[in-house]
Amino acid sequence: METNLAARYANTPEGREAESILRACVHCGFCTATCPTYQLLGDELDGPRGRIYLIKQVLEGVAPSARTQLHLDRCLTCRSCETTCPSGVRYGRLVDIGRKIVDDRVGRSALDGVRRSALRRGLLSKSLFGGALALGRLAKRLLPAGLAASIPDAPAAGAWPAERHARRVLIPRGCVQPSLAPNIDAATARVLDRARISAIAVTGGGCCGALSYHLSEHDEARGFARRNIDGWWPHIEQGIEAIVVTASGCGVMVRDYGHLLASDPAYAHKAERVASLARDPVEIVAAEWTTLLPQLAPGRNARRLVFHPPCTLQHGMQIRGVAERLLQAAGHSVLPVADAHLCCGSAGTYSVLQPGISQQLKANKLRALEAPGPELVATANIGCMTHLQSGTSLPVRHWIELIDRGLAMEPAAASAGPG
Ligand code: SF4
Ligand code: SF4
Repeated sequence: METNLAARYANTPEGREAESILRACVHCGFCTATCPTYQLLGDELDGPRGRIYLIKQVLEGVAPSARTQLHLDRCLTCRSCETTCPSGVRYGRLVDIGRKIVDDRVGRSALDGVRRSALRRGLLSKSLFGGALALGRLAKRLLPAGLAASIPDAPAAGAWPAERHARRVLIPRGCVQPSLAPNIDAATARVLDRARISAIAVTGGGCCGALSYHLSEHDEARGFARRNIDGWWPHIEQGIEAIVVTASGCGVMVRDYGHLLASDPAYAHKAERVASLARDPVEIVAAEWTTLLPQLAPGRNARRLVFHPPCTLQHGMQIRGVAERLLQAAGHSVLPVADAHLCCGSAGTYSVLQPGISQQLKANKLRALEAPGPELVATANIGCMTHLQSGTSLPVRHWIELIDRGLAMEPAAASAGPG
């Protein structure tokens, strides 16, 4: 699609990048059919092709309005449209550029600004978030059922294996996951230990930057990326072979660090290296499966389950079907689910900022997940886990916890925690 950039964007890196993305779009509309917001709202401007058109208009000089902003805000950044697109249009990148430009031009109401700022502060501060969660758990019995359901219980993390193998990886402890579900990282470390890989927990880092980036706070996101790179770099110099990011929502962001910091001469090279080392647990476990499979007790804790592939895994990283195959090979019955490509409505802060659409998507997703009659829902991202758990009595677990439980209980040298 030919685009004539307005003078104010013509010589900016974002303008040039957006122009090259727009050039790939042939306006065929195939993507519209798989867009969850178009399916719900039925408005072309709430689908990818319509949003692309809006962004193109703005880049060509049309003044954006609050309406333009609303259509972009309603996008989940689920990137289902990227998976569908036959022309390889990088929609996710385009909508991030478009949102930033529109936000800078249109601004936010005072209330919306306060809400977004409070969300960022609350979720990005480990102490604030952890404290609020601990209070919520204490008061859970006194809260209305709907609110109480959104506060997950705290499962015990279990032991973290001592460092004893020559092969080593990093597991960064993210901002919200260690408080919400500390067992996920520990279970990953135990599974990797059985694959003769030691996992080193990095506790000093912070948010991957995704939350800020998708709220158009790009500089803040770059700051988080630099802080993480500084924290991880000494381990990289000492020879770790991968950075295992156990939440796919964060993993997809870390994989983008090279792009994020491409114009920062002090960090561009390091960011590329970090991005190249980022792995989802599913990639490592699949690669080490021949070592792990003989250690799995046949039928141990085997469940009838459904797998919800997070958008960040299936569309962002383009990893599809692997966790399902591993769970099946580990003895579980993985039941088919309709419309598995559709978002559950969690999408970072979307569930707070667009609650109506988010709740409808959650209800639709849970209906599809519960239809085959599973005992449990497995997934790969903490955001999807907590979002789905708030609407179902079925347990919702990270798939790695099921592999961890399936491993025979041979003693592994272990420490009490990740340090
Ligand atoms: S499917 Fe791809 S090329 Fe077709 S309209 Fe959507 S983004 Fe453009
Ligand atoms: S990212 Fe998801 S919600 Fe946004 S336009 Fe693409 S398919 Fe639709």
